[in-house]
Amino acid sequence: MKTAPVNKIIPFSNVDGPGNRTSIFFQGCPFNCLFCHNPETINLCVGCGDCVAGCPAGALSLGEGRALWDSKACVQCDACIRTCPHGASPKVRWMTVEEVLREVKRSAPYIDGVTTSGGECTLQNEFLIELFGEVKKLGKTCLIDSNGSFDFEKDPRVLAVCDGVMLDVKAVEPAWCRRLTGRGPEMPLKNLDYLLRAGKLQEARTVIFPGRDAENEETVRYTARRVGGACDYKIIRYRPYGVREAYRGMLGEYETEADYAEKYALMARELGASRAYVV
Ligand code: SF4
Ligand code: SF4
Repeated sequence: MKTAPVNKIIPFSNVDGPGNRTSIFFQGCPFNCLFCHNPETINLCVGCGDCVAGCPAGALSLGEGRALWDSKACVQCDACIRTCPHGASPKVRWMTVEEVLREVKRSAPYIDGVTTSGGECTLQNEFLIELFGEVKKLGKTCLIDSNGSFDFEKDPRVLAVCDGVMLDVKAVEPAWCRRLTGRGPEMPLKNLDYLLRAGKLQEARTVIFPGRDAENEETVRYTARRVGGACDYKIIRYRPYGVREAYRGMLGEYETEADYAEKYALMARELGASRAYVV
């Protein structure tokens, strides 16, 4: 039976796409963004056992080559996450499509649809195809929140059962993109164009960093020109909360000022991205 590592399911969310949505966060991401707010979702547990003894509630044990988590015993102190040297979390449920669907059905009378996120949910492409097929039978919409690392054009099956993709355009300049995310910009930019052509770009998003005038401008100019009025373009203020200590010094200890971010939203709208706004 197909399973996928689920970090968290939020039954009702109004920040993960239009309307009220159930958000499903999968564990694991091929990027390593310096500004990641949930760095414990980047890697899968390798079963080193370092976190087990430090759990004050006895909620952790080792088995099946990884940490096993007793969610009922857990007191959510996050000591395990602070301990883990691998950027992982033991608080992950390997769930079947049926198990995830059962949770979606509980919220179904009150939601417009489902959003899958992460980590990077497209690492679970086969799982998503099956899950979305079932969610569609409930008459609900399906959205993907993605860093753009998956080649949607090469394997368009998931797009066929999904209503749209909320795509990060983190950086355009290759060296800056590699420094920021650990990967180059080629695939996310290819996806930006492909999703636009396919009519499946739900929104584009770019984080604006304090003092990074040239990098911010290049990314916003490029993205705004392509997106035009086709979808929302979210200009997101960098906020240091949750960012790993080691990287905060590089990106700034303070959040991006609202006025500074507004400057880029205005620039984007002047370039044709009529639905650009700051969050
Ligand atoms: S958050 Fe982690 S360390 Fe804390 S009780 Fe739960 S499993 Fe144990
Ligand atoms: S969650 Fe981290 S510390 Fe705990 S067993 Fe897995 S890899 Fe080791």
